[in-house]
Amino acid sequence: MIKHFLIEIILILLWINPCPLISQTTALSPLNTGISENSNDRENVLQISYIGNMGVLLEAGQHTVLVDGLHQNYKPIYEHPTHETVQQLIKGEYPSFSEIELILVTHKHKDHFSPKYTYDFLRYNSEAILVGSAQLKEEIEKVSKGKEKKLIDRVEVVPYSYNINQVIHKGIEVESFRCDHTNPARHKNIENIAHIISIDQYNVLHLGDTDIETLNNLFHKINLLNRDLDIVILPYWMLLETSSLADPIKKLNPKKIIATHIDPTNWSKTVANIEQDIPNVICFTKVNEKIYLRK
Ligand SMILES: [Zn+2]
Repeated sequence: MIKHFLIEIILILLWINPCPLISQTTALSPLNTGISENSNDRENVLQISYIGNMGVLLEAGQHTVLVDGLHQNYKPIYEHPTHETVQQLIKGEYPSFSEIELILVTHKHKDHFSPKYTYDFLRYNSEAILVGSAQLKEEIEKVSKGKEKKLIDRVEVVPYSYNINQVIHKGIEVESFRCDHTNPARHKNIENIAHIISIDQYNVLHLGDTDIETLNNLFHKINLLNRDLDIVILPYWMLLETSSLADPIKKLNPKKIIATHIDPTNWSKTVANIEQDIPNVICFTKVNEKIYLRK
């Protein structure tokens, strides 16, 4: 009797969470040529961990880059890392990643960027740099109260233009360019910068808060074709307009798409809609969830 009861409890637990050991890792099916998942062999692997909203931590071949990862609680509709996670990122103690050499920020909105955390990061990591807009530099200068010129000099400003700005730092190459923020009626003064990160053998494009129309127009201004993109990281709303979706994202031809900026209070429907329509997409919803990609 007791034995049966215990077996039933175990079965219920398994039903609730059938695979608790791998719940932190999103399993990838090899949907597209070139990349598949293999989390056991770390060599030649690109690791990506989700840092909330549009934040991602990337590592390949010991090179580590954080994009839009230093932010904090702003509004319930934006997922954000805990203070503890941010401290791990700053101190190079984030599990299974090495110290961050380069941070990138798309724009200064609070769900992407905390000037205080970024200042703390640059203080702690004296060889690391930040690449982003002049607006970010201004915000960090305010925190430093005009002191610490050397720290401020490690902010590499990307001019807000359609010329690609190239930075190479510790073997990581970043090409950055203007990619306007969605909803210009509200945000026309915000400089949103997209970054193409070449890290080891991988090319990753992070678009920040933009939209399909802006991306379509960008093709007339910047040559984005034949970039051999492994991954494009974008806000989920770019995947909702399926009629217009096809063109600009198909033109970029990434092997995988990572959808972010998903409202954590109401994510399951969004994720189901996106996954139903797009074959090679991964939706990030839980901070610290990780994926492993391999060529
Ligand atoms: Zn924004």
